[in-house]
Amino acid sequence: MMLLLEVINLITYYQTRRGYVRAVENVDFTVEKGEALGLAGESGCGKTTVALSLLKILPPNGRIMGGRILFKGKDLVKLSEDEMRKRIRWKGISLIFQGAMNALNPVLTIEDQIIEAIRLHEPNVSKKEAEERGKKLFELVGLEPNRIKNYPHEFSGGMRQRAMIAMAIACNPNILIADEPGTALDVIVQAQILKLLNELKQKLGLSLIVISHDLSLISEVCDKLVVMYAGKVVESGNIVRLFKDPLHPYTQALIRAFPDIKEERRKIESIPGNPPNLLNPPQGCRFHPRCKFAMDICKKEAPKLIEVSKNHYVACHLMEG
Ligand code: SF4
Repeated sequence: MMLLLEVINLITYYQTRRGYVRAVENVDFTVEKGEALGLAGESGCGKTTVALSLLKILPPNGRIMGGRILFKGKDLVKLSEDEMRKRIRWKGISLIFQGAMNALNPVLTIEDQIIEAIRLHEPNVSKKEAEERGKKLFELVGLEPNRIKNYPHEFSGGMRQRAMIAMAIACNPNILIADEPGTALDVIVQAQILKLLNELKQKLGLSLIVISHDLSLISEVCDKLVVMYAGKVVESGNIVRLFKDPLHPYTQALIRAFPDIKEERRKIESIPGNPPNLLNPPQGCRFHPRCKFAMDICKKEAPKLIEVSKNHYVACHLMEG
């Protein structure tokens, strides 16, 4: 496997009138070519901020405060806006936003939008070539090529999601980020979209980053899981191993909070309490106010992410000898 993306000690904050919101702190993970990584955690845990940081499309008050984002060995944190636009976005890393319904322009046909996206990022491509590429992309994502002439409102939710995926892979990116790909879709359509993402991964050797609060959705597509809590990575590793033997109390609670359709019935348990306010997160382990195993040290010292077995990382004082 080839290492494509290495995120090292990423720190991203939002500046507000009341201080910095410490949305992402000391986040580390890697993505290999053809690998699918799932980024999981409750809403507000920083997973979307990680995606926006990778592409450097944070809102005006967001800022990368530290760390490195090595994409094919090049540090994106140091690249200018111009370089990001010309070389990375769409061609290197592409993002499908939450709620594909609203991301398409209602007054343009899908074809016009795909052609515009292709020619904006690859100015040498003629209109005719872009049209042909658009039709091929439609076929690839399981849509009738002639339907590309339709307007977004003529498509169902699932078809719009497929059209968004077609647009996102139009410039042959290495990595496709899907932020909450199942949102607003019924379970059958959601399963079809996940199947499509899996097919694209196989056919194109595409790497995926799937962001979701829903672990069962992530388990359908991903090889690797990164669990975030309150802006930090608490556990990461091979998804099968993490599901079978989660070591961090938060990962254990998160897994218990979702039904597993393949296993025998078990009681679904919610996680008591709420995630902390990241303007002023708790000292020590950020999970300690909700953790039933919390010890004295947990309130004082933040646990480090340590490799407990090959490629399995956990940040919890229970793991420290
Ligand atoms: Fe719980 Fe302490 Fe581990 Fe945090 S470090 S998850 S509070 S046991």
